[in-house]
Amino acid sequence: MRQVPPHLPPRARPSTPLQAELNVEGHARQLERQVEQRLRDNDIRYTRGRRVVVESLAESDGPRSAAELSGDIGPSVPLSSLYRSLAVLEQAGVVIPHHGARTITRYELAEWLSGHHHHLVCSNCGFVEDVEIPESQEDQVRKLVEDISAAAAFSPNGHALEIEGLCSQCT
Ligand SMILES: [Zn+2]
Ligand SMILES: [Zn+2]
Repeated sequence: MRQVPPHLPPRARPSTPLQAELNVEGHARQLERQVEQRLRDNDIRYTRGRRVVVESLAESDGPRSAAELSGDIGPSVPLSSLYRSLAVLEQAGVVIPHHGARTITRYELAEWLSGHHHHLVCSNCGFVEDVEIPESQEDQVRKLVEDISAAAAFSPNGHALEIEGLCSQCT
C-alpha cells in the first residue's frame, strides 16, 4: 500500500550558477533532514549504506534498478546490502518502486522528497527518465485526470504520467 504524504512545494528554480550551487546544497541538506525524520519516526537507523542510496537516488535523473544503483555507487556498498537498504527505505515511504519496461523494478525517491514529476520510458533499452513539466501543462494534465475520473465516478488524489517510446539513444 502506497502512503500519501503531505505535498511539498516544488524546488525553487535557481537564477544564477552561484545561487544554483547554494540551492542544490540547501536542497540536499533539507532532503537529508526529511529522510532522517521519517526514518526516526519509523524507528529505523539512517546507516551509512542507506545514506549513500538516498544520495545516489537524489542525484539520479530517473528511477534506478538495484544493479544500476550499484554501478553508480561502486563497490563500497555490496549488492546484498543495497537490496536490504532499498527494502527498508521503501517500507518507510522514502523510496518507491517503479515497475517499468522489461519488468525490471527501478527505485526512486518518493514525490514528497523529490517533487512531482512524470516519466519517459524507453521501450527498447528500458531506460526511465524523470521529466518535470511547466505548471501550465500540469494544469492541463490535472484537468484531464479530473474529467476522466469524474466519468468513472472516481475521486482522484494524484496521478503519474508514463510516456512510452524511444529515448534519444534508441531512435
Ligand atoms: Zn532507449
Ligand atoms: Zn503531473
